[in-house]
Amino acid sequence: MAWKFSTKAIHAGQEPEEVTGAVNVPIFQTSTYAQQGIGQHKGWEYSRTHNPTRAALETCIAALEGGTHGFAFSSGLAALDAVMRLLNPGDHVVAGDDMYGGSFRLFDKVIRKYGVEFTYVDFTNPENVKGALRDETRMIYAETPTNPMMKLCDLQAIGTIAQESGALLVVDNTFMTPYLQRPLEFGASIVLHSSTKYIGGHSDVIGGLLVTNKPELAEQIGFHQNSCGAIPGPQDCYLTLRSLKTLSVRMDRHCSNAQLIADYLSKNEEFRSVNYPGLESFPQHELAKRQMSGFGGMISADLGSLERAKAFCRSVHLFFFAESLGGVESLLCHPVSMTHGAVPVEVRERLGITEGLVRFSVGIEDVNDLIEDIESALEAVRAVEQKEATLDA
Ligand SMILES: *Cc1c(COP(=O)(O)O)cnc(C)c1O
Repeated sequence: MAWKFSTKAIHAGQEPEEVTGAVNVPIFQTSTYAQQGIGQHKGWEYSRTHNPTRAALETCIAALEGGTHGFAFSSGLAALDAVMRLLNPGDHVVAGDDMYGGSFRLFDKVIRKYGVEFTYVDFTNPENVKGALRDETRMIYAETPTNPMMKLCDLQAIGTIAQESGALLVVDNTFMTPYLQRPLEFGASIVLHSSTKYIGGHSDVIGGLLVTNKPELAEQIGFHQNSCGAIPGPQDCYLTLRSLKTLSVRMDRHCSNAQLIADYLSKNEEFRSVNYPGLESFPQHELAKRQMSGFGGMISADLGSLERAKAFCRSVHLFFFAESLGGVESLLCHPVSMTHGAVPVEVRERLGITEGLVRFSVGIEDVNDLIEDIESALEAVRAVEQKEATLDA
């Protein structure tokens, strides 16, 4: 059964329901299942362990990532927590130096307490990863592209380093989704998603997913999923499964809208720099073409100063000014004051996260309306400047 991506998204794990033939997997809103007798049941005992709606979602995401086992969690961070429970005290992890803030907080404030050590390096150069390896290194944790600078790491090179050193490569694939990038094909052992973002895609559910292609890891992850219990309810699984069905068409539109907007921004002199892997001027454009089949919907761009960024964020209407990303509606955020407030100034500056930087999560609206919205917000930026200039004079 060699289905292509869009077919798997609609059919993997989603046979018509046996009793009625319903074409959608029902929401099995049940905590327990009647058993026939001692030691006799239909494979379902208790919904922390198994639920048919969740099982359909887990089968589908595993098929889409090209893995053998999928696991659903109540949030992306709950999924990451389950990954971290594969480690023991004394183990060492090499991780990227500009990963998602919540992931860093989990590592630094929670997991580190249990005797796991972390080294953070710039993953854009695989040699840095190699140089950070120790005898105790058990895991390499990568995110590509990163938020908000869109820096990429070479999955093939890092996959090889992981295999040679015997460390597990775990990749957070939230920004790309399996439609655009499949890390298991490059030697990763586990792929992680915050399904809150593109996979959910409608800004209406919090969730996390893990996929692996290694049966021994699957057994441990399944054990922790059941033992720790951070599972999503059947309604959330249903919404996520429903969203997977349209993932490919949504991602195509996210990509084409974002490319047009990135082109527009990069030609506009109000922006100092524009970070989007689909731009030919992007330093890692060739790598992006090699390991991704599209460039995604995320763009960051520098307006040059805090005042200008403030005026811009105040003046967009169609783009909602909000945290999060990956929904059908376009969002704008200001990383320094919102998602990256806790990052020390010197680290922020080294990464290029300036006070003038804004981040776009480009939605699937009509792109002409989005560009018009940006254009009119830039008018407001210019107006603020002119007013200040007159006041000064
Ligand atoms: C949002 C996000 C997470 C955390 O996911 P939650 O669902 O919010 O717990 C992890 N990684 C990335 C890249 C994210 O954007």
